[in-house]
Amino acid sequence: MSPRKLVGLYPGSFDPVTLGHLDIISRAVKLVDHLVIGVATSPAKAPLFSLDERVAMLRAEAGRIGGRATIEVRPFKTLLVNFAAEVGAQLIVRGLRAVSDFEYEFQMVAMNQRLSAEVETVFLMAAPMHQAISSRLVKEIAHLGGDITPFTTPAVAQALIERSKEQS
Ligand code: ADP
Repeated sequence: MSPRKLVGLYPGSFDPVTLGHLDIISRAVKLVDHLVIGVATSPAKAPLFSLDERVAMLRAEAGRIGGRATIEVRPFKTLLVNFAAEVGAQLIVRGLRAVSDFEYEFQMVAMNQRLSAEVETVFLMAAPMHQAISSRLVKEIAHLGGDITPFTTPAVAQALIERSKEQS
């Protein structure tokens, strides 16, 4: 009997992708055969980058991550557990940064367990140097003209600087 292919889903807003996200992706690909990175529309978060832009940035950056697993980046607009079923994911991967993430993630897992018995959530932590990075703070630093190169890739930093200039 051939073993079942393990598919993971890493969902998020990725507005924009940071070294924190890429750290989690490079760990997640060690756990699964195929990783789907799901880019949520997240209208409530009023994203700085459009869904297409966020997907394109992630495709470029995740494409550089090596390893045994294959990686696919897909936008999604549906309920997370439904999207997990659609892509055949048995695992949802989330990153934990600090205690402050815990409450929200705890609630989300509890709700998703009620919505679907088919999918389990696993939490990963980034390396200490990447743990404190958040898209929100990186955007704030870029907007205020600070150096964002320690927090994201050169291409994303460039896109952020240009978008910040357009908006000011
Ligand atoms: P969301 O809107 O779903 O919170 P984000 O793009 O902010 O989307 O984050 C996606 C996932 O990546 C979340 O699980 C978040 O906790 C995780 N994440 C983001 N930055 C980091 C980081 N620096 N270290 C660990 N996990 C992170």
